[in-house]
Amino acid sequence: MKKLINSPATVVDEMIEGMVAAYPGLARLAGVNVLLRSDADHVRDRQVAVISGGGSGHEPAHAGYIGAGMLSAAVAGEVFTSPSSDSVFAAIKAVAGEPGALVIVKNYTGDRLNFGLAAELARTEGIPVEIVIVADDIALAATENSAGRRGIAGTIFVHKIAGAAAAEGKPLAEVARLAKEAAAAVATMGVSLSAGTVPGVGKPSFTLTETEVELGLGIHGEPGIERAPLESADALTGRLLDHILSAHPLAAGEPVALMINNLGATTAMELAIIARHSLSNLQSRSLVVQRVYLGAFMTSLEMAGVSLSVLHLNEERLHLLDAPTTAPAWPNASREAPSSPQDRTISVPFATRPYPPRSPSAKGQNRLQAAIEAACLALTAAQDSLTELDSAVGDGDLGITLARGATAVRQALPGFPLEDPPETIKALGQTLQRVLGGSSGPLYGVLFLRAASVLKTKATITPAVWAQSIEEACRAVSELGGAGPGDRTMLDALIPFAETFRTELEKGTTPQDALRAGVSAAEKGAASTAQMKPRRGRSSYLGDRTLGHPDPGAIAVTLWLRAVASALA
Ligand code: ADP
Ligand code: MG
Repeated sequence: MKKLINSPATVVDEMIEGMVAAYPGLARLAGVNVLLRSDADHVRDRQVAVISGGGSGHEPAHAGYIGAGMLSAAVAGEVFTSPSSDSVFAAIKAVAGEPGALVIVKNYTGDRLNFGLAAELARTEGIPVEIVIVADDIALAATENSAGRRGIAGTIFVHKIAGAAAAEGKPLAEVARLAKEAAAAVATMGVSLSAGTVPGVGKPSFTLTETEVELGLGIHGEPGIERAPLESADALTGRLLDHILSAHPLAAGEPVALMINNLGATTAMELAIIARHSLSNLQSRSLVVQRVYLGAFMTSLEMAGVSLSVLHLNEERLHLLDAPTTAPAWPNASREAPSSPQDRTISVPFATRPYPPRSPSAKGQNRLQAAIEAACLALTAAQDSLTELDSAVGDGDLGITLARGATAVRQALPGFPLEDPPETIKALGQTLQRVLGGSSGPLYGVLFLRAASVLKTKATITPAVWAQSIEEACRAVSELGGAGPGDRTMLDALIPFAETFRTELEKGTTPQDALRAGVSAAEKGAASTAQMKPRRGRSSYLGDRTLGHPDPGAIAVTLWLRAVASALA
């Protein structure tokens, strides 16, 4: 088990201390694992208190939802363990005044018993208490399991709706009605890629192979209803929504809110990919998605996976979801209906000034095209080896980056003005700077743009003019990136190439031979980078650790240069 904790025995206590330390709106009830609004005294007699809680390990549930407009108090049990009725009772007494309390309970036997008993105790003291049970997990057919469906992420919608209704001063019966209706209107199902580890247990609750997922699992690490093969994000999203909407059928045109809940260890990237398909999937069923909530709402320790909750909306519920709250874990930003992403695609107009045409040469045109194509093919073929080189000394993206550039250039090539070499080189630079990204993008961009600018000033384009343009292009890379010879970059291949090509031409060597000599010099330069100390780029953070590995960017230069030389031979 690898966790940032001090001791498995103190996780809940220390988490509560940390929450109170971090959020001024929270206070701790002495002697019990209960967090409450720090202004609880002030609001006690003004509004119905809304209380929830359960086992820990579901953070930010439940304490993250404490605040004006949401929960008045949250009771925390040990990890995945119901809190005692005593602590629930203490919470009710701490926050409930004249208007009484609504207790929101996730449907688990332990929670029902402890929260139910606490409510009963409170009633004996004259505190009006209503209980709402949330059982939104449609993975379990209510009839199959006598305990009924579990309460999972959909509970957060009930917290929000009840909390907002209470903040508006609605009486207990009304707050309870709204909460019950919301609980009945929400359906949730999840999929897990890996389980979390309870600190006191030390190993994951269940294990899955690289290609398995668990569908319809609970949030206490209990396995799901079906172990299924890992599929694409879109396919799994579709499956979850199929289940949810066959358990809770909704007619076309009905408004819904969608919660995409991170079960603990899912990246924001994956969550957004799930959001993308969830929205289009619901839209394709003619449901009107009025709100989307994306994030970690009800987790299961570090479980990887997501749950999707679909809440059937009406005017009342929508209004209460949108009402403001100070609860730290509620996303106040989500107060707008998502329009179709196409409606929000904004294109930047690219204005280009036309240049006067040059006299076209069919031979030159074909050679330029052949050279560019060869360079692209070489980079595509080298993707894996460049990835490997960049993984050793950088972040491993160079192979993919350059292959992406090569593909884009090959696609754009038919549209390049090949009869006009300067314009073609410029188009090449523009394409690369647009699609490459990373450090290579701007560097390759400036390389070809500067070469194009030099070429443009010449009436006829001879090998010597190419040589001059390449040397100036190297200077442009140096100016932009701040690297010089010996700094272990692509320049350690480019500069030897450019210098050798020019000096060989000056000696009267044929252009083909000068090119070959240049490529050999580039290869020698690239090989020598293995002994250089990195001073630029990402590798510079590695210091001496790159020794023995050549610079991937320099190697890449030799690969496409060699391909160009062969194509022009
Ligand atoms: P990133 O580090 O952003 O992932 P890439 O993987 O796209 O960058 O490119 C890495 C290559 O870029 C390096 O191998 C090196 O040859 C080249 N490079 C990095 N910084 C510079 C610089 N300042 N000048 C010239 N080349 C550089
Ligand atoms: Mg990189």
